[in-house]
This record gives sequence, structure tokens and C-alpha cells, in this order.
Amino acid sequence: MSEQPIEVDVLVSGGGIAGLATALGLARGGRKAHVLERAPEFGEVGAGIQLAPNALSALDSLGVLDKVLKDAVFPERKVYLDAVTGKTIGIIDLGEDFVKHYGYPYVVAHRADLHSSLLEGCRESGIVGLETGREVVSAVNQPDGRVLVTTLDGSTYLANAVIGADGVRSPLRDGIVGDELVPTKYVAYRGTVPTEIVGEDITSSPSVLCWLGPNMHLIQYPLRNGKVYNNVAVFKSDNYSPDHDNWGTPEELDARFAVCCESVQNAGKYLSRDIRWPMYDREPTEKWVDGNIALIGDAAHAMVQYLAQGGAQSLDDSIAMASALLNSEQASDAFAEYTERRVEHANNIQRLARVAGELFHIEGIGRQIRNYSFKDHDAKDYSNLDWMFMPLDKAPAKRNYPA
Ligand SMILES: Cc1cc2nc3c(=O)[nH]c(=O)nc-3n(C[C@H](O)[C@H](O)[C@H](O)COP(=O)(O)OP(=O)(O)OC[C@H]3O[C@@H](n4cnc5c(N)ncnc54)[C@H](O)[C@@H]3O)c2cc1C
Repeated sequence: MSEQPIEVDVLVSGGGIAGLATALGLARGGRKAHVLERAPEFGEVGAGIQLAPNALSALDSLGVLDKVLKDAVFPERKVYLDAVTGKTIGIIDLGEDFVKHYGYPYVVAHRADLHSSLLEGCRESGIVGLETGREVVSAVNQPDGRVLVTTLDGSTYLANAVIGADGVRSPLRDGIVGDELVPTKYVAYRGTVPTEIVGEDITSSPSVLCWLGPNMHLIQYPLRNGKVYNNVAVFKSDNYSPDHDNWGTPEELDARFAVCCESVQNAGKYLSRDIRWPMYDREPTEKWVDGNIALIGDAAHAMVQYLAQGGAQSLDDSIAMASALLNSEQASDAFAEYTERRVEHANNIQRLARVAGELFHIEGIGRQIRNYSFKDHDAKDYSNLDWMFMPLDKAPAKRNYPA
């Protein structure tokens, strides 16, 4: 426990994707950041992450793209299938035309590889301060324009700017927005297995498979150069209650998946049943800043995962934030530039992710209409994806959202 506050320039609370990417972006421009991470070690929870071209562009400008791509898998297509009938609903071709269109591919990577690439980048810069076991409990704007940050163990820091990159349950967001987590009533189960167990030829022509069913879906793709197969099953619990944790049980998972085709039911055995991941998001808000404290990543715009954009948007935030803080030493000016560039877009993605969830999980006649309406979709027509996948530096200031 320190008696005098430790003076730092930019303090980042949270060493996840958003926090480390921001620190690295600042370091590449010669500005020092100091990252405080609550966990005893830096690391990531979960196995796979889909990285769209906007995410790869951000990683490229941070100088870590090659590291991330070393063991990544380059899927040739993303396939949406009906989880009940097993029939294909629609395909996005991720081949040469896709890469030409966006300038970057669409890849799937292990979260640990992404996180460790960012962490290594921070370490190699030599100017990022990295502390673990430091849980930020408060950040208070001071009359002199600095921010006083206090951690659970009583340590204090004085910073010129504070970035809240502390995730969906962000304590710093509590101080700025003061809203509650929004429970989705959905829960995820995850599992990675060696590819040979799956016993299918999934590495020679890899795909991201998205099986969509009534109140459930399943995502599957190979990871780590095709050595392991990643499975994420998500379903709505009828027993949700904020008052107890006994909802979204493995028994409910089996019941929800019982209506599905054989391939989907088979995937049930690849899932770890001892950990369940209740899903929450946040209401979109324009209030990302209070004085010299700003939110970033899930702390600013936690979204449901159905567009696979939460991490990508966190990286885009980091690029915009680092660039703004390099343009201006004054946190207030930098935060105005950052929010101008990011708030509207990220909020729109948050909203559309919820709509995507409705489409994924729709029941009855709605399910048939969904499948029918994607029937003639051209796998190489990317016009409805540009608003989301276009790298930040190529995206127009005002994006064209799907009508
Ligand atoms: C099932 C699922 C699938 C997903 N799939 C994708 C996908 O395919 N593609 C994609 O782009 N995104 C995906 N996402 C979203 C993505 O994982 C998140 O948007 C991203 O991890 C957010 O990063 P972050 O750094 O903002 O937050 P986090 O990763 O939550 O990091 C926050 C960090 O802050 C630390 N912390 C918290 N509180 C404190 C404190 N008080 N003091 C100090 N440190 C603190 C935490 O320990 C953590 O290290 C998915 C999400 C889920 C749930």
C-alpha cells in the first residue's frame, strides 16, 4: 500500500483486449500508459474469437497482426444453417473476393493468442506499465484536472487521463452511467476438443458454422491451425430469475437441443458442462465520459455476441482513443474526438446485435420466413456488411446502415 499517490500519465483500468490495445496504441506513439488489472495474472477467458477485417486492420496498425495470425485459421466461408432441419440458410464467402473487398481476411483465433500478442507488444514497447492484482475501486476527477484512482488494496494513483477498460461489469461505468446490467436470459456453454475427435474433415476447407434454432444457436469452428475444434452453444432459459443461479442448467441445454438435427445434438458432448456463462449486455448510452475519465470496449458498449463484433469494436475504440490522446495532451479534447468517432457507431452495433439475436432464435413461422428470405442471398454480396466490417481508417465518418 502506497502513502503518496503514484503519478502516471494515462491510467488504464483493465488489461483485457481493449485496455492492452489502447496502451499499445499509445506506446507506439511514444505516450506512456499504466495498466491496472484486477486478476492475479493477465489472461483471457474462453477459447475462440472471430476477427472481422476491422479487427485485423486495428491489430495491423498496432503492429501485432502477424503474431495473431500465426496460429489463426482462415475460414473459407461462414455458413448459417437451420439447427432443426440441418439445411443451409445462407453463406458468406470469405475467400479471395472478400479479402480484396476489405483488404483483410476474416479469421478465427484463440483468445489467448490474441491477448498474449497484445501483452507482448506492450512489454516489448518498454514504456507500458503493467500491474496485476490491482482492482480499481474508484476514479475521482480532481480540481487540478487530474484523476485520483484508488485500488482495493488502498494504493492510489494520480493520472492525467483514466480509461475504463474494465469490461461488462465495469465499476468505472457505475460511476459515469450508473445503469444496471441487462440480463438476456440466455446462457452459453463452451467446449474445445481435439479435431480428430470430431472426426470430420474440417481443416482442409474450414468454415465457421452458425446453427440457428428456436431460442438457441450453436457456433463451431476450428482453432489453432485446425488442431482443436471450438463449440459455443447458447440457449434461452425459461427458468431465468435474478434471485438465484439455478437457471440455464445442463438439463435445460439438453432439452433445448433435443429438437435439433443430429449434427447439432452431437456437439452437445463437446461442451464443458461445469461452467455456464450467463449473457448480459448494456443499454446503449452516449455518456462515455466524465471529466478526464472515459470508457472503452465492453465498459462503454457491452453487446450480445451475435454479430461477433464486441472485441472488434473494442479494438476500433482503442485505435480511436490512442490516436485522439496522441493528437492532444488534454484529456477533454482527446475524449471529445474519441466519442465523436465512436459512440454512434458502437451504439448502433449494440442495437443491431440484439436484432441479430432475435433473427437467430426466432421460432415457428418466423423461422421459416427468415430461412426463405436468405434463400437467394449472393454469398459474395458484402454490401450489408460494409457498415460493420470496413476498417476504421477506410470507413466514412457517417456510415450507411442497413435499411
Ligand atoms: C460468448 C461470447 C462470444 C464472443 N465472440 C466474439 C467474437 O467472435 N468476436 C468479437 O469481436 N467479439 C466477441 N465477443 C465479445 C468480446 O469477447 C468482448 O467484447 C471483448 O472481450 C471485450 O473486451 P474488453 O477488454 O472491453 O473487456 P474484458 O475482456 O471483459 O476485459 C476487462 C478486463 O478488466 C479487468 N477488470 C475488471 N474490473 C476491473 C477493476 N475494477 N480493476 C482492474 N481491472 C478490472 C478484467 O479482469 C479484464 O481483464 C464475444 C463475447 C462472448 C460473451
